[in-house]
Amino acid sequence: MDESKHRPPKSKASSSPVPKAVVSRLSLYLRELQHHVREGQETTNSGQLGAQLGFTDAQVRKDLAYFGQFGYPGIGYRCDELIKKIRIILGTDVQWPVALIGVGNLGRALLGYKGFRHQGFRIAAAFDANPKMIGRTIEEVAVSDLANLSEIVQTHNIKLGLLAVPAEAAQTAADQLVAVGIEGILNFAPVTISLPEHVSQVGIDLAIELEQLSFAVLKQRPAAD
Ligand code: NAD
Repeated sequence: MDESKHRPPKSKASSSPVPKAVVSRLSLYLRELQHHVREGQETTNSGQLGAQLGFTDAQVRKDLAYFGQFGYPGIGYRCDELIKKIRIILGTDVQWPVALIGVGNLGRALLGYKGFRHQGFRIAAAFDANPKMIGRTIEEVAVSDLANLSEIVQTHNIKLGLLAVPAEAAQTAADQLVAVGIEGILNFAPVTISLPEHVSQVGIDLAIELEQLSFAVLKQRPAAD
């Protein structure tokens, strides 16, 4: 793995950090471009790229301009080329080995999800505190004892962790990951974890997404008089 490529996105246009929202939209543009390619489309433009996502062409152009000039006059963007460029920006042009902590219902579902590999991620190691889980192999990944965390993380050069443990175990598990040099944690537990500044975290809570959805549905309904 080429570690030099695993750096946070930098703006070419200025030295200031790229806003989080821009980086989130890059992932959406990437999905949309991959969809274009599956549909046999070779080129696209900012209008098409933004249309399905609900963004204006100006927004798409402004977002991409943070990272350079990718379009061609009269053509727009070459889908394959822009996919490659966005993957380099996001750091997913190389595959990230990932450690999974907690091999319960969610952990097993994550192990079974084949889509990660297409986007640059591979669950290389799994850990659980339950002795009944340790030693089992799920989706070709051995479930290990946390006592071996440091050794396995080093062997696979793992820098990212997926946390799928109960809320009450999340902070301890996160601390263990940090202690062995993990640099980013995707936390599925419904609790905020404290991490040192040099470790990035993203929290995923589908219940929060559902709350947003229920709010949006309620807003759409005509007000009852
Ligand atoms: P689960 O009880 O089936 O699995 C939890 C696993 O973690 C078990 O195998 C357990 O042995 C293991 N574990 C417990 N403490 C540990 C520790 N200290 N170190 C390592 N392993 C440990 O639970 P689940 O349904 O798989 O859910 C896992 C977590 O994900 C929970 O926090 C749950 O609330 C959360 N969750 C989040 C979402 C979401 O939308 N983000 C969806 C489902 C579940």
